[in-house]
Amino acid sequence: MTVFPQNRTGHARMAANSREVSRALARTRRDFLRGAAGVTLGGTLLRSSWARAAAIPARRKVVVVTFGGGARDQETFAPEGQENIPHLMRELIPQASFFTQVVNRGILGHYVATASLATGVYETFNNFAAVPPQSPTVFEYFRKDLKRPSSDAWVVAPSNGFNRIGESSHRSYGAGLGAQVILPKHLLTAATSGRANDYQHLLRDNYETPFYSPELAGSEFQLQQLEMLLKLSVDDFKSHAQTLSSPDELSLYIARQLMRQVAPSLLWITMHDIDIAHAGAYSLYIDGIRRTDRLCSDLWKTIQSEPEYAGKTTLFILPDFGRDSDEDAGGNGFQHHRTGDALSRTTWMLAVGPGIREGVVFDRAVDSTDLVPTLGSILGFSASQSQGKPISELL
Ligand SMILES: [Zn+2]
Repeated sequence: MTVFPQNRTGHARMAANSREVSRALARTRRDFLRGAAGVTLGGTLLRSSWARAAAIPARRKVVVVTFGGGARDQETFAPEGQENIPHLMRELIPQASFFTQVVNRGILGHYVATASLATGVYETFNNFAAVPPQSPTVFEYFRKDLKRPSSDAWVVAPSNGFNRIGESSHRSYGAGLGAQVILPKHLLTAATSGRANDYQHLLRDNYETPFYSPELAGSEFQLQQLEMLLKLSVDDFKSHAQTLSSPDELSLYIARQLMRQVAPSLLWITMHDIDIAHAGAYSLYIDGIRRTDRLCSDLWKTIQSEPEYAGKTTLFILPDFGRDSDEDAGGNGFQHHRTGDALSRTTWMLAVGPGIREGVVFDRAVDSTDLVPTLGSILGFSASQSQGKPISELL
């Protein structure tokens, strides 16, 4: 076991070492993608702003997908992993701008990390508490600055623990300015009046601590959402749900219905199937990656085929963070994300849509908190409290 000196020099050395690990991982990812997906190295490919402006429609929409609890490169962006992500490799990446070094410097718990992605600030609240983010969310900036109605910003979230993610406790924002949050599992529980024996495979809520699952009230409101808003009868919803194989499939089904019936301009979908890795079964973790890959492709096809979204929507896909490496004695490999090492913090992001350069890879370091200011530049609001800055390659 290595003992690091607990002084400034020691910390500085560890930080420098982490940066080097992140950089090396980003370069490996970049070289892999240039060979396997045929993408070009970005940086010198700036088109004229006139040509870009001509390609971008005035009323833009954005869909953000978090890539399900995080996967390692050996199961994704590596020669031995690429078979698990054929849709990303062959369909999405050739049309996308891809960033190989997105560093998350925050807490590696799914709710707090996803909330940090949504605020552009590393939130520090307890991951296992039903509390709102402290900094304004992207939904509040969007709605307040652009004076958009509550129907224009939505979150589809995987577990009951995410029910507060749409709206912060910040005093200049918060109350009444956030996104509406739809929890497909909660809908399903309401639709089956709690007698959901046939749906247990869709209702697993949290893979890290099975004991944490906040009870939510309001099943009547949920059923109203289903029928009035999504235009789904309880019986149709129940019978369709029976054909689905996982919670993320249920989320995508609800997201599609939302896109057709409400067509929000800002839609945030949090996937979570991959995180079944915590249960320790490698094959289920791989199934989760393959399913998430397919669902991302299905979502992009939906965006291109729905008149409200086609030609004016930018899709962002990024994990909240990664998983432990096999080499680190303090971790359990793919199963968990406990060490907080550089590998589990160095993720990626792809963006695809009108005005976004196609088939380009960037390996400079960007920060997880840069997402919200980037969305601000695209949609036209100011993320004034965010710690990040807009990613210039996407503007
Ligand atoms: Zn997890």
